[in-house]
Parts: sequence; C-alpha cells; structure tokens
Amino acid sequence: MAKILILGGGFGGVIAAESLVAKLGHDHQITLLSRNRQFVFYPALVKLAFGKCQREDVCFDLRRTLLNRRVNFIAAEVTRIDPLARKVTIDHGEVEGQLPYDYLIFAMGRRLATERIAGFYENARHVLNVEKALEFGAAVAAFREGRAVFGQCPGARLPVPVFESAFALSRLLKESGGREHAEIFVISPDPPGGQLGVFDLTREMRKALDFHRIEFVPDFPIERVTAGAVLAKNGRAIDFNLLMLLPPFQGSPVSASLGVANDDSYIQVDTSMRVIGRQRIYAVGDCVDFSGPKLGHMAVRQAEVAAANVCAEIEDKAPVAHYAHELRLVIDEGGSDSIYVHNDPNVDEPANVSQGLFWSWAKLAQEKWWQAAHS
Ligand SMILES: Cc1cc2nc3c(=O)[nH]c(=O)nc-3n(C[C@H](O)[C@H](O)[C@H](O)COP(=O)(O)OP(=O)(O)OC[C@H]3O[C@@H](n4cnc5c(N)ncnc54)[C@H](O)[C@@H]3O)c2cc1C
Repeated sequence: MAKILILGGGFGGVIAAESLVAKLGHDHQITLLSRNRQFVFYPALVKLAFGKCQREDVCFDLRRTLLNRRVNFIAAEVTRIDPLARKVTIDHGEVEGQLPYDYLIFAMGRRLATERIAGFYENARHVLNVEKALEFGAAVAAFREGRAVFGQCPGARLPVPVFESAFALSRLLKESGGREHAEIFVISPDPPGGQLGVFDLTREMRKALDFHRIEFVPDFPIERVTAGAVLAKNGRAIDFNLLMLLPPFQGSPVSASLGVANDDSYIQVDTSMRVIGRQRIYAVGDCVDFSGPKLGHMAVRQAEVAAANVCAEIEDKAPVAHYAHELRLVIDEGGSDSIYVHNDPNVDEPANVSQGLFWSWAKLAQEKWWQAAHS
C-alpha cells in the first residue's frame, strides 16, 4: 500500500486527489492536507465583490467533497517537509506532528508578498480571497465619484481580476447613472507592447477598454501606496479615490524546506511535474516555476499529469504524462466584449484572441460545472 499525501486544497490539490482516486485501487491511501476546510473558486471572486453571487456560491466544503471520493482530509498548517525522511511537519490544526508519506504532491499555491510594496497593507485593497473581495465590494458600494485605479504590482501574475474589476465597475456605474462622475484607470508594470505578462494589449482589449472609457497606463511599476496615491519606481504618481491592486506573488514559504526553490520560492519541476532533484515529490499549480500568469487551468492540467505519473511510479514505470505550458484565459467584460486568449509560449506566433458574449457564458458555464461537481 502506498501512502500519498497531497498538500493544499485548491485547484491543484483537489484535481490531483480526484485523478488519483480515478486511477488507483482501494489498497492505496490518499490524504489531502489543507489549511482550512474550504475550497474557494477564485475566478468568481470579482463577481462576489460586485454582489453578483454569494459567499456560498464560491466556497465548497472540502471534507465532504473529498470523502465522497474516498480521500482522507486533514485541516492543518504544513510547516516543513523533510524529503530525506519522507515526512511532513504539520501544526495548528486537527493533527499536529509529523506525517510520513511514500509519494507527495505539493500544491500549496503562492503567497502574497505585500511587504514588498510600502503602504500596500494599510492603503490598498485586493480581491484575492473571500474576505478581501467582500471588503473591496463594500468600498465599491460606497464609491460615488472620483478616480478608481486598478492594477498589478511588479511580480503579481494575474491580469484577469484587474480587467474584470475595471469592467464591472464601469457597468455598475452605468447602471446607476453615475459613470459621468468617475474616471477609471488600469495601470500595468509592463512597458508598452508587453502587457498582460506574455501577450501584447490586443486590438480586442483596446476595443473593450475604449467602449468603457477606461484609460490603460503601461510602464507603471508600483513602489509605494499612500492613503490617496500610487507611486511608481520611475517617479510617476496617480491619485485615487478607490483602489484595487494585486500585490507581488511569491511561491509557498514551505518550498524552502525542499531546498530546490528559486529566489521567489517557486519550485522547479520537470515536465512530468516531478520536483527536480527530489525523489517521489511532485509539485503543481501556482507554486511551480513556469513563465507568465498563474492560472487555474494550468494547475488542473499539472495535477492530472502529476497524478498519472505518481500512479506510474508506484508501478515502477517511467512517467506516462507530460505537461506542455500554455496560456488560456477569459477576461469577462460582462457582455459582447469578453475576450478569450490562447498563447503557446513555445511557438513564436502571436496569441490567438477571440471576442464575444460566448466567452462570458463559457466562463459562467465552467463555474456552474465546478459548483455541481464539488458542492
Ligand atoms: C480573483 C481571482 C481570479 C482568477 N481568475 C482566474 C481565471 O479567470 N482563470 C484561471 O485560469 N485562473 C484564475 N485565477 C487563478 C487561479 O485561481 C489559480 O491559478 C489557482 O487557484 C491555483 O491553484 P493552486 O491549487 O495552485 O493554488 P490555490 O488555489 O491557491 O490553493 C492552495 C491551497 O493550499 C493551501 N495552503 C497554502 N499554504 C498552506 C500551508 N502552509 N498549509 C496547509 N495548506 C496550505 C491553501 O489554503 C489552498 O487550499 C484567479 C485567481 C483569483 C484570486
């Protein structure tokens, strides 16, 4: 019997657990450890902030969902991994101490390095967890006039909620008749021509921004936030009355105990999702070292690959699945300017971009599928 431990209950951890259950017989033990009992469907947090759905629509009870799939669930904080002894140290939870494993899947996402931007914690809001999304929603509800600023700090690797929040605010103000009293800005750390991490600001995106009269400001690498202004390293500054910023991302701090993470704590893996230089350890999702934005579809595909290869390794076989890094994202503008982007960074060709109401529906359909399959 193999003991397989999965660390983290997000997209990567849950899909890894489901894939292992589908592939492995009952004689192996699968355990998922995560900080709390809830799975959060992050792509819906902008909708939550703008009152388009409720907390219970975006949070699922992990224990109930996983038990249905014959996975043990333990709510606890992982503090350390000893790759030589094959043990994980856990703390502050239902169980404390050390858990042994035969195979490990590391899926603990990324941390928000707010400390890298002076004044971020005190003066900026974000939408990267349920509580913060609801706090930002309260600030949106109180916003009547002035300047709203949305953006990513250098190292934040998630353009989707920045644009979706700007579009949602524009729509909300149009509906309430207050659009004339507000300016909306989206700021980006990247120079012109390199926006959104890996692809240029497309013709389609410009159309959507123009339609909503949203001003896009490239080359704005945020260094500091005060109570009323955002300041960039290059001396530029912009005032705000409402602010939503994504802080810099870093890999999980627990990755340090593996001894193979890069300077930003992202874990280095090969295409089979095995952690380079470590035996019987796989890593998936936002915690791994790949280029460009950090997205849920990547975590899902990486988790499927890791699960297939854990099963192969249990049977002493070579890896049977490989991950090909590519980017697929939908920016839901709320209507017919919604955008789908597909980019293969290994091919020297422009991104494939489509626009239309279909992509807004497709994103909603994906959310409904997750709800139905996991609640
Ligand atoms: C607002 C928002 C909008 C997004 N929109 C999109 C989108 O449109 N499309 C898309 O593809 N992606 C989107 N994403 C990105 C997507 O949600 C992430 O890429 C995805 O959640 C990564 O999955 P993961 O499993 O790697 O990490 P996570 O989902 O972050 O899960 C990590 C898990 O590990 C647990 N954990 C962390 N540290 C510890 C510890 N020390 N001990 C125990 N447990 C721990 C956490 O509690 C969590 O359960 C969005 C994200 C946000 C926040």
